[in-house]
Amino acid sequence: QFPFGRRLPCDIYWHGVSFHDNNIFSGLVNKFPGMMETVRKITLSRAMRIMQDLFPLEYNFYPRSWILPEELPLFVAEVRMMKDNNPSWKPTFIVKPDGGCQGDGIYLIKDPNDIRLTGSIQSRPAVVQEYICKPLLVDKLKFDIRLYVLLKSLEPLEIYIAKDGLSRFCTEPYQEPTLKNLHQVFMHLTNYSLNIHSGNFIHSDSVNTGSKRTFSSILCRLSSRGADVKKLWSDIISLVIKTIIALTPELKVYYQSDIPAGKPGPTCFQILGFDILLMKNLKPVLLEVNANPSMRIEHEQELSPGVFENVPSRVDEEVKVAVIRDTLRLVDPQKKKKDTHTFYPWIHLKCAHQLPRTSSVLHVSHLPQGHPVKPGSCRRTLSVLVFRRCPGWERPGPGEELPGAAAGAEAALPSLCLKQVFPKYAKQFSYLRLVDRVAALFIRFLGVKGTTKLGPTGFRTFIRNCKLSNSNFSMAAVDILYIDITRRWNSMGIDHKESGMCLQAFVEAFFCLAQKKYKSRPLHEQVALLIEQCECRLAALQGQRLLWGCA
Ligand code: ADP
Repeated sequence: QFPFGRRLPCDIYWHGVSFHDNNIFSGLVNKFPGMMETVRKITLSRAMRIMQDLFPLEYNFYPRSWILPEELPLFVAEVRMMKDNNPSWKPTFIVKPDGGCQGDGIYLIKDPNDIRLTGSIQSRPAVVQEYICKPLLVDKLKFDIRLYVLLKSLEPLEIYIAKDGLSRFCTEPYQEPTLKNLHQVFMHLTNYSLNIHSGNFIHSDSVNTGSKRTFSSILCRLSSRGADVKKLWSDIISLVIKTIIALTPELKVYYQSDIPAGKPGPTCFQILGFDILLMKNLKPVLLEVNANPSMRIEHEQELSPGVFENVPSRVDEEVKVAVIRDTLRLVDPQKKKKDTHTFYPWIHLKCAHQLPRTSSVLHVSHLPQGHPVKPGSCRRTLSVLVFRRCPGWERPGPGEELPGAAAGAEAALPSLCLKQVFPKYAKQFSYLRLVDRVAALFIRFLGVKGTTKLGPTGFRTFIRNCKLSNSNFSMAAVDILYIDITRRWNSMGIDHKESGMCLQAFVEAFFCLAQKKYKSRPLHEQVALLIEQCECRLAALQGQRLLWGCA
């Protein structure tokens, strides 16, 4: 909060929607640059497609997806081919507008040709995806899981998963899709924002009944039915790690552009919302990743037709309060400065029903006397919340005691709800991080700081330094490859702000080179071999330059 305007640097900047303040030169920010763009439906699908091409089995937790309008002919052709190969296959597809949320504009189709009939696809790009027809049902209802994931650091990668999440239920008993029920959103879409408007929505104060429950209550139920809940958790952890591995290359490109290395800048972390569907056989499927998951801990109740009131929601409180509290504990900037005597003020999240209904959610308590922020004064309507270290509020020296209230607050905090999964399981997953290494090559040749696209000279330098051109692959062919791929990616209309080759185009060109050079091997081996070659050549070049420097 800036009671007197912002003059001093802050420890933590809490942005409401996205990373948007380029004038922060220190401290922590709760958003990564480019995260919103990276998790949009189309960008996520592209990133998952790259990983599915490299590691089809490892990434089969993401439904087969096509990008509209550009892949409409491919979608129609592939579905026709699959149907020809397997006439008993009666698929359903779900069309989701890019950048949409809360179920906005989503519809189901049985026949690929129905896409053209249903909407203005040219004006609104979308993803069409295989619909999971056999979800796990509880009380005959379809539900999905919202899990909170803390991306604490990008380099080195640090990921935490909240031990509990939310289960959001449909409000009509589920039936497998037929032409008759395709339009019944309360049966097929689990969005809270849609189902709240169904007459069947049940708001419950218990965490294991009603239309929104804790995920742990579902796990208890599954466990009592004999399901292997341990295996389910391990599948979910693996899904989260693999998804973040798919997203990091693009995030790193944005990061170096907004916060160039070697310049003063903040450190970022972010709470992400993972939407996961469980199939009947308990296999988790990724639906989407939300860069700005709702942290509301209130529920909208209709008092009379059209008149709504916000009432506390115990389920939301139980899950979300713990996530924010423990995120703050984990990123605590004072932890890193062990030797300093100042320490971070106690931010205490209180339950909404203990606070005035209209305003506070985040409650600041135990501040030193005379501090301008009044306890309980952070309003949820603020788009940026700032936690500033309090001058004069010193950690007690050896032998001194913590201020009573602060000591009490620390002791009273429950154990962390966020569980570290990376680097804990890094060894198991490091072989998947190939595109990360391709992105490192891309960033290295970007040249101008602050850019996200590679120019033709940068691409040529990459080819030359890595010694990828030869008698079979001339520099003229290199230029043609650059122009062809760059033109195609730029015509897809993703980002017209900058000209040049974007990361995905570079990855495509890199895969092309790898396939050319190491024929008849699986794609991931071809790519791994080419990366090794490039890294070796660049290391040798670097060594030579150092030697010349010494000489
Ligand atoms: P939005 O961002 O608009 O909420 P989602 O991708 O989360 O879009 O989809 C909305 C809802 O549609 C999900 O919560 C889920 O219930 C359902 N859904 C989405 N994709 C699939 C799918 N491939 N199979 C089955 N159900 C899906």
